[in-house]
Amino acid sequence: MARCLAFMLLVLISSLISTVGLPVEPPAELLQLGDVAGGGRLSVDASDVREASRDFGGLARAEPVAVFQPRGAGDVAALVRAAYGSARGFRVSARGHGHSISGQAQAPGGVVVDMSHGPGAAARAGARALPAYSSALGGHYVDVWGGELWVDVLNWTLSHGGLAPRSWTDYLYLSVGGTLSNAGISGQAFHHGPQISNVYELDVVTGKGEVVTCSEAQNPDLFFGALGGLGQFGIITRARIALERAPQRVRWIRALYSNFAEFTADQERLISLGAGGRRFDYVEGFVVAAEGLINNWRSSFFSPQNPVKLSSLKHHSGVLYCLEVTKNYDEDDAESVDQDVDALLGELNFLPGTVFTTDLPYVDFLDRVHKAELKLRAKGMWEVPHPWLNLFVPASRIADFDRGVFRGILGGRTAGAGGPILIYPMNKHKWDPRSSVVTPDEEVFYLVAFLRSAVPGAPESLEALSRQNQRILDFCAEAGIGAKQYLPNHKARHEWAEHFGGARWERFARLKAEFDPRAILAAGQGIFPPPALVSDS
Ligand code: FAD
Repeated sequence: MARCLAFMLLVLISSLISTVGLPVEPPAELLQLGDVAGGGRLSVDASDVREASRDFGGLARAEPVAVFQPRGAGDVAALVRAAYGSARGFRVSARGHGHSISGQAQAPGGVVVDMSHGPGAAARAGARALPAYSSALGGHYVDVWGGELWVDVLNWTLSHGGLAPRSWTDYLYLSVGGTLSNAGISGQAFHHGPQISNVYELDVVTGKGEVVTCSEAQNPDLFFGALGGLGQFGIITRARIALERAPQRVRWIRALYSNFAEFTADQERLISLGAGGRRFDYVEGFVVAAEGLINNWRSSFFSPQNPVKLSSLKHHSGVLYCLEVTKNYDEDDAESVDQDVDALLGELNFLPGTVFTTDLPYVDFLDRVHKAELKLRAKGMWEVPHPWLNLFVPASRIADFDRGVFRGILGGRTAGAGGPILIYPMNKHKWDPRSSVVTPDEEVFYLVAFLRSAVPGAPESLEALSRQNQRILDFCAEAGIGAKQYLPNHKARHEWAEHFGGARWERFARLKAEFDPRAILAAGQGIFPPPALVSDS
């Protein structure tokens, strides 16, 4: 009965939106909806609407008419069915944790589904699915709600069997559905692949409002389409995540290079080491100015316990490159970890005397960026605009990229970049070619991430940083670098077609027509023309 009521109310909303058109002030009928017993809640509270209108990037702002707070997949399906069945359709966007840069989770004039609600909330009260073992899959897994944050997944699986997901992002306060709609990458990706390579099964609410279970064997088009699919084919309401036994501790090492070719040769050698022998568990790196050596998010390493007294660096000016690696271990293996680390480091060509080591619990390592977040929040520097640019660059052109961008456009000064610049390679064979994510056509490619903050009053203004992004993109295009945007942000249809490339674009458009024929979902990505704005009517 309650479900029926919820559905009828949703149909009412959809007909209001589609036939009458909502004025700026929501009509009384909409305001009266309030809580729907046993189902989702449609909120028009100013604070909910305001929150759903913004994101981490702070560059785009678009108001939905309402924010939907589901209690489960059935509620999400009812909302999408209402949008699909309405005369004109209306936009529906899932919002994970709002960590997009350019409005990708927004639904101008439509409804934002706040995925932080859902069974995740009930699960926090004790009804969450336990990790399980599958002999068919050959390992452990856990089923989680699509709006769950990775940090909560980690805490849950650790406390139930000492298990943890295998593949990560650097920051854990991102939602499962949000990162699976992109790829989800960090320094483990060279070995485990991105997060989308570590999922066994999904429940997806398609743009027709159907809840479809999919996997490699069952509805594979939807499964692989949704992985890296930028939310275009459905809303992920459940994901079956692969788990491994969690190590207890991490040896975390950084070492500096002045020679880019040596830096990338060492990174590429490290990611080529196979599972059987000695290898690091995480390989990343970043670009750093010799005169600074401290960058705002990652400075804790070069702390009073680890002072930067690098006499070997006094002749260096301009850009340095910092390799960042880790070795996981259990307390029982503490002795052998030293031998493994020494042997691996012994083959690398970093600058003598520039190795910094720290040792910490595994969870603290995984959650490292959160500490920086808290510091930035305390200074009011988390809420500033973030004109980030993330690129995948083929390994064969990474030296050209260094010359043209780090030494060229940035002029050897990372200070002008407005934040950290990450650079690390990955192995393409760990990425399933059937997924929707786009990567360069080479076995090894790099993530280069410009994690910029436009702090008011700083010389690196939003305009200056955005201009620099455009210069980098122009350089890549003119030099034929073959780079692809990660967390892509394109404006025109032909840019999206070029981003995906011939056959992949055709497939993407075909899946859109099949699973979201009215282009209701994730219109904030700006890929397919969405239903007209309510106010257009
Ligand atoms: P949102 O921004 O809310 O949504 C992103 C897109 O996915 C939107 O189009 C939305 O409609 C869609 N979506 C959301 N939930 C669902 C769902 N359940 N089903 C279908 N579609 C959905 N990325 C990495 O890969 N590695 C990193 O190390 C990394 N670090 C980051 C650190 C910070 C501080 C920030 C802000 C971002 C970082 N990211 C990283 C980027 C992150 O992966 C993206 O922002 C991603 O969008 C996840 O954020 P979110 O969960 O808040 O999703």
